[in-house]
Amino acid sequence: MSTSSQAQKSTSRKVTSASVNTDSAHQLSVHSRQGRNKLLSESILPLLLCLACPFLVRSIVFICTHCHGSISEFFRRLLFSQTVTLKDILEDFFYFEWHWPSGIIIISFLIYAVVMTIILPGKEYKGPVTDTGHVPIYRDNGFCYYIVSLILFASLTFLLKLNHLSPTYIYDHWEEFLSTVSTFAFLLCFLVMLKGKYMPSTNDHRSSSNWLTDFYRGVELYPRIFNVDVKLITNCRYGMLAWALLTVIFCMKTFELYGFTDSAFITCVLTLVYLTKFFWWESGYMKTMDIIVDRAGFYLCWGCLVWVSGIYTLPSYFLVTHPNQLGWTSTAIILTLGLVSIYINYDCDRQKIQVRSTEGKCLVWGKPARTIQAKYRLLNGKEHESILLASGYWALSRHFHYIPELTLAFLWTYPCGLQHILPYFYVIILFILLMHRAHRDDQKCRLKYGHAWDKYCRLVPYKHSKESLISQKKNGKMPVKLERKHAFPLTLAPIILAHDILKFIYIQ
Ligand code: NDP
Repeated sequence: MSTSSQAQKSTSRKVTSASVNTDSAHQLSVHSRQGRNKLLSESILPLLLCLACPFLVRSIVFICTHCHGSISEFFRRLLFSQTVTLKDILEDFFYFEWHWPSGIIIISFLIYAVVMTIILPGKEYKGPVTDTGHVPIYRDNGFCYYIVSLILFASLTFLLKLNHLSPTYIYDHWEEFLSTVSTFAFLLCFLVMLKGKYMPSTNDHRSSSNWLTDFYRGVELYPRIFNVDVKLITNCRYGMLAWALLTVIFCMKTFELYGFTDSAFITCVLTLVYLTKFFWWESGYMKTMDIIVDRAGFYLCWGCLVWVSGIYTLPSYFLVTHPNQLGWTSTAIILTLGLVSIYINYDCDRQKIQVRSTEGKCLVWGKPARTIQAKYRLLNGKEHESILLASGYWALSRHFHYIPELTLAFLWTYPCGLQHILPYFYVIILFILLMHRAHRDDQKCRLKYGHAWDKYCRLVPYKHSKESLISQKKNGKMPVKLERKHAFPLTLAPIILAHDILKFIYIQ
């Protein structure tokens, strides 16, 4: 009997049907700060982050290129030898630079992304209904876009090579390129904010009198320009594709300089497989927090255009100046662990999507899906129902999929060696981002689903954050003894294990 027919016949185990959550202040309101700390969260913090993030990206690249990847050398040069002065840093790193060749590449790439998104074929699909009852419609052509782009990139590289040129031109001008894309992204975020304030595409927008917070957090949830979804373009069609192409370019540069280098090869292969998975599952991504919760502002759009290009590609960029040869055994082990991590991460997301698309009538790990019917009310008063999965990976912990994500990030950085902390910046930042995200998502779901979410939390007590475990203990909602002792180390266990295995091999 096929799995699907078994699934059809099996009755899904519905744990409970919770009462409708009548709290109208869900989803969009999660981000509105009330009263205390308003000045800090709506003005000071956004200002600091808008200033600090471009500075951080530029300094990290500077340390890689000019300080042999050593943070201490950077500070030594800054504080003692004075070969880098504070004036240089302020002038170079805070300056809105525009390097024309980079500007032309960035704008052409963006135009390419928009045109291909419009013309490539694909079935229409719906995003989740929003608080105001809006249902976004997209075309499922992400994977096609990705494959076509890789083929075009390979052809372009071939043509350039015939003329003694190379796409590694971008590596050679990486600092100018990053500053230019940052300038461009600032401008774009400002225009998207103005559009949101004066010409919003849907009712899912929230504008305030504070321009700083509007700029940082964004105004619109689903901005469209000429019916092209802005977040689809910045996050997927530019951000994720740029990540893939830049990783290939940096790997090519390493090969141009030193011949075949297995460290660069591992990082490149794992990143490409991960991004192939991303585009294969793009329609699933359009139902995640980036899209359904975060509005189009600096945090999301600048992040996808600049932070992804500068920080997510850091391991492969670092390897150009710090190549390693790991040997075939290590290469095979890292690649295998990495591919397993990608598969598990994909499978977690797939289970969630599958249970919702089959309305719970499916098998999860060979057994009927265990589900919770969770009702909620939109701001327009309409009642909706959703399904929470409480079996498979989603019974191990509420955000189990972040563990393979982090393990993978560690694995593709590991070829950089253990001498420098700098290339691990992405892993560290991702860890903080995902812990914060898990916390935000729990907040959002509790407001949205009320009792149904509490029931899910009682069935699946593990999250990722110690703080939340303690706060839930105070509310007396879960078996505290077990979770306090084990939840945090449990989250880190696979990473530490992978690290120890690889360190052992590496030292041998
Ligand atoms: P999720 O895919 O977990 O999406 C969260 C939403 O899923 C919730 O808001 C809720 O939405 C729904 N949900 C939560 N629990 C359940 C459940 N038990 N059953 C069914 N639905 C549930 O989160 P992310 O957007 O954070 O992650 C998506 C992917 O992106 C992951 O693979 C993650 O690893 C990856 N990622 C990568 C990052 C990177 O920088 N590399 C950063 C962040 C994520 P609803 O309102 O629909 O109920």
